[in-house]
Amino acid sequence: MGVPRMQQPDERRDMVERQLRARDIVDENVLRAMERVPRELFIPEPERRRAYDDAALPIGAGQTISQPYMVARICEALSVRPGHKVLDVGTGSGYQAAVLAEVGAEVVTIERIPELAEQARANLAAAGYDQVEVQVGDGSLGVPDRAPFDGIAVAAAAPGLPETLYEQLRPGGRLVVPVGGPRAQRLEVIVRSPEGPAVVHSVPCRFVPLVGEEGFAG
Ligand code: SAM
Repeated sequence: MGVPRMQQPDERRDMVERQLRARDIVDENVLRAMERVPRELFIPEPERRRAYDDAALPIGAGQTISQPYMVARICEALSVRPGHKVLDVGTGSGYQAAVLAEVGAEVVTIERIPELAEQARANLAAAGYDQVEVQVGDGSLGVPDRAPFDGIAVAAAAPGLPETLYEQLRPGGRLVVPVGGPRAQRLEVIVRSPEGPAVVHSVPCRFVPLVGEEGFAG
């Protein structure tokens, strides 16, 4: 059973107030976008009633849709503005790609597991975001033929700064990536500058591993 339809906008507003604004999310573009994107459409039926929980939830293939707070934190750290071209690495359910599209970005997203990419395409279409380009492949190497990007969001943990992704940023562009071991990481915000990568440490976090050439071995 899904959440009764009339309650969903209220639950979304509540999620934005309690889980995002009451913590430290201040970017109104991100807050508005998260109030509009129907998270329940990105979650498989058995877990749908938990769509507005303050938690990551299973989406199949051993993967998860990220906790709403982490989606907001990543989107805010990217400083996304309408018209920006953004790469979303680790499509998962497609929810974060939808939030980025709702902010007004042109979104390319890449997922290594073909079944999840296919499901994400269906989720994005059902939610009205079929302009998002979903690719299948190793996103630790980025999407060179669509570079440069104003922002790159990685929703999986990397063992170190993924250099190839950094190289696919425009000057002044931002890469947001969880870096650390498999059990605990820190969200790093890396700005491409003439002097080299400028790194700002953000919040502690725990993501599934980035599996690929510039990630962990599969
Ligand atoms: N942001 C997603 C959402 O809103 O549903 C959640 C992403 S989930 C935490 C991380 C995803 O990264 C998983 O679907 C996983 O298969 C994917 N992934 C891991 N390594 C990858 C890689 N090298 N390239 C592309 N996707 C990868």
